[in-house]
Amino acid sequence: MMKKKVRALVLFSGGLDSVLAAKILEKQNIEVTALSFVSYFFDDSKAKVSAEKNRIRMRSADFSDSHSEVVKNPKRGYGSAMNPCIDCHLLMIREAGRIMREEGFDFVATGEILGQRPMSQNLAALKLIEKEAGLEGKLLRPLSAKLLEETAIEKAGLVDRGQLLDISGRSRKRQFELAKEWGVEHYPSPGGGCMLTEIGFGKKLKKLLENIKHPSASDYALLQTGRIFWIDGTRIIVGRNSADNGRLKSLWEKGDMLLELKDFMGPSVVIRGKITDGIMDEAKKIIIGYSRHTKDSDYKKLEFTITT
Ligand code: SF4
Repeated sequence: MMKKKVRALVLFSGGLDSVLAAKILEKQNIEVTALSFVSYFFDDSKAKVSAEKNRIRMRSADFSDSHSEVVKNPKRGYGSAMNPCIDCHLLMIREAGRIMREEGFDFVATGEILGQRPMSQNLAALKLIEKEAGLEGKLLRPLSAKLLEETAIEKAGLVDRGQLLDISGRSRKRQFELAKEWGVEHYPSPGGGCMLTEIGFGKKLKKLLENIKHPSASDYALLQTGRIFWIDGTRIIVGRNSADNGRLKSLWEKGDMLLELKDFMGPSVVIRGKITDGIMDEAKKIIIGYSRHTKDSDYKKLEFTITT
């Protein structure tokens, strides 16, 4: 009888550590599926390119709703911006565990490295993640495995511990050497791609959450477009360029107002919330202020296209 192939689900950002984690397992003839996540605040585009260039089978999971709950109320707080990295990472591993169980994978693996991040990747934190994700014995960190307790999957012979690595710390030297040795040339640099780590975006998100308890997908999308002014709980969103203007036109929805100058070039504006005469006046002044073709004194004379 043919022996069933061992199947691993590898958490995959597309960065070097996750590529190497996948490659280490592939070298043991384990069937690897890379798993990348999509949310309101990041997508899988970098991971897709990396997976394709490194010939790694990849799939994505959209966890926008559960992720936005973590963003609103992170148990372990935020990083330097509105990034709830510890809870976000834990959620990803938990979700990977759910997929593993539902789809018959043998274990979950990650590119985590012992000691790479002092707070979230020390021995105690790695153990805690495993426990909280409900993956005790079934979560493998191939890059640091030899420095960690032997997992149930290694004991069961599904993975050869002898071929796993003992990397620790913040230096990337060993990873770069391995990349060279294994011909891994394409991987995005670490960081980037997650809007939650951007201070400016964090401020906008904070303001949104102060005003709206349960933002919709469209509220989050609007946060990524144009300048936002809040007046008495109503948002006036102003396009900064033609790309923003186009996006605003595609994002406005029933109940919003789309406002544009009639005979002059200028920014498109979406108003979301309670629309009063005072808000309308403010929005018109903002449009004129950002149009290169009008003067503030034109305010009373200009005509606007209003779409509701
Ligand atoms: S940087 Fe963004 S995607 Fe990465 S763990 Fe932090 S919140 Fe999650």
